[in-house]
Amino acid sequence: MKINYQSELDKIIHKVEESAKIPSLLLHSCCGPCSSYVLEYLSDYFAITVFYYNPNIYPEDEYWFRVDEQERLIKKLTPKHPIHFISGKYETEKYYRIVKGLSQEREGGERCQACYDLRLTEAALLAKENNFDYFTTTLTISPHKNSQILNEIGERIGQEYGVKHLPSDFKKRGGYQRSVELSRQFDMYRQDYCGCAFSMKEAESRKKNT
Ligand code: SF4
Repeated sequence: MKINYQSELDKIIHKVEESAKIPSLLLHSCCGPCSSYVLEYLSDYFAITVFYYNPNIYPEDEYWFRVDEQERLIKKLTPKHPIHFISGKYETEKYYRIVKGLSQEREGGERCQACYDLRLTEAALLAKENNFDYFTTTLTISPHKNSQILNEIGERIGQEYGVKHLPSDFKKRGGYQRSVELSRQFDMYRQDYCGCAFSMKEAESRKKNT
């Protein structure tokens, strides 16, 4: 059965509004542009630490450029509650190990699920170690990503590591469009491929065929 994860998030936010405590949230971010709307939205309710952990990104220059864009965005925002930043390790060998044999998968298939799993597991471990109230990811903002799968993975990993997963479907309520607007407003670099070498190739062949 399809779950409306935006409604699930609404219920949690409603409880936060009724409480005196500001819960802490470790927010895995895939890139600055995707995080822009999520930060604008959630920083009213949570004390957020952005966790940039994306060893899937290829090539390395692109990786460091996305890290810089992420930090630049955080500095430009004026949130209700301060936003902190943690840069994860660029451990590409971990990514290539988990996607071994899946290079031919199309975007959204098994390779991507392994990629989500890797990044969310790292986020959950860090959230647990540092006693965050919740962890989640910006990835559900993408119209190319299946929020049902992402939330199922987040819930499973949260249960496995004993840390609460914050449900989301950030593309709902115009979230994706707002992220495009904010990226323009902050003059941010918006990449045209998801991140890995395989998605880069897919994007190149799409361009050739149009
Ligand atoms: S297409 Fe995106 S989500 Fe899928 S494996 Fe590549 S970087 Fe990860």
